[in-house]
Amino acid sequence: MSVPTIAARIRAGARLDRDEARVMYLEAPTHLLGRLADEVRARRHPDRTVTYIIDRNVNYTNVCVARCSFCAFYRPVGSAEGYVLGFEEIFRKIDETIEVGGDQLLLQGGHNPDLPLEWYEDLFRAVKARYPAFRLHALSPPEVVHVARLSRLTIPEVIARLMAAGLDSIPGGGAEILVDRVRKALNCYNKATADEWLEVMRQAHRAGLRTTATMMYGSVETPEERLDHLFKLRSLQDETAGFTAFIAWSYQPENTELQGAEATGVEYLRTLATARLVLDNFENLQASWVTQGGKVGQLSLAFGANDMGSVMIEENVVRAAGASYCMDEVEIVRNIEDAGFVPRRRNMHYEILGEPIFRQRQVARRFGLEVARADGDTSVPAELVNYAGRTRAAKQGRGQAGPAS
Ligand code: SF4
Repeated sequence: MSVPTIAARIRAGARLDRDEARVMYLEAPTHLLGRLADEVRARRHPDRTVTYIIDRNVNYTNVCVARCSFCAFYRPVGSAEGYVLGFEEIFRKIDETIEVGGDQLLLQGGHNPDLPLEWYEDLFRAVKARYPAFRLHALSPPEVVHVARLSRLTIPEVIARLMAAGLDSIPGGGAEILVDRVRKALNCYNKATADEWLEVMRQAHRAGLRTTATMMYGSVETPEERLDHLFKLRSLQDETAGFTAFIAWSYQPENTELQGAEATGVEYLRTLATARLVLDNFENLQASWVTQGGKVGQLSLAFGANDMGSVMIEENVVRAAGASYCMDEVEIVRNIEDAGFVPRRRNMHYEILGEPIFRQRQVARRFGLEVARADGDTSVPAELVNYAGRTRAAKQGRGQAGPAS
């Protein structure tokens, strides 16, 4: 089928099949892809509202046994640069988030073998006891798989326990490309296979949680495999309708084992637009200004995105791999309005919370991103001694090592 024929079918509201998606992604002129994605976006969001959320991306630990080759953030067990945040440190971060109008933590971290399920449960309960209305958007599917393996529980059991402790929703991280050939090449097959990632989301949706979905493209996958990824997400969304949004970001090569080059801005915009055309059952597509910068992020609003994601207060993972774009609420709103849209604050469920907060009250501007821990801070949280370590390093650090033999 030709590009003009498929374009006409999209304009008539038809669902793209795999062959049509391939033709559009590989052959359609970029301006046409963008125009079509914008038309589909406008059908779903005719009021020209562009949303964003004020939350904080907190990485509770950088200790990880998964060792994905595209990751510049993790540190191996026993590393002097490894950290686990204390509950008090996390409370402080929540206080700062509330101060600038935020109501949620995006809480993700490495696969730390020395943090048992009880640590997460205690943290979630402590947060909810102190901040009852505050939301926990926490633990991507590979982290849920990791905790399930450590605790020898099933995925539904782990999700049920985390929900009972206060989990509100699950972020779609760790999806990378949902094709096992790619996952093996990126050394992330063992942390979660494509089916395991999808199964965590299926079970989360069945348990009543809403989640997001992501895609990290531009590493070792082919265009066909990117389409495989999109079609797998569309199929699960047909089944559960549990995804609130889709976010694509490009692989950031700096300081990673894999190295290589970053995908260009045009490739990002083509991928985003194609996602809008394929994911006809996703309400929301986020602009990834964190990896693309504010200018391409703004352009995303003409290529199918209807959301600017999060006002970043803190970022550790993408920054470790070389990207360190920062936009506070004032800057995000400026970019949305300059593109001809109406900015609105939202929560994770995409419920509108209101006008920009800085127009309602004085909020300190933020021109730089916070980090999880200041450089050189090697303090160990006091409460960690309450949890049994699995590794020798943790047992020694927590005074749990047995007598020398
Ligand atoms: S991407 Fe996540 S799971 Fe993979 S090495 Fe980095 S922290 Fe660990």
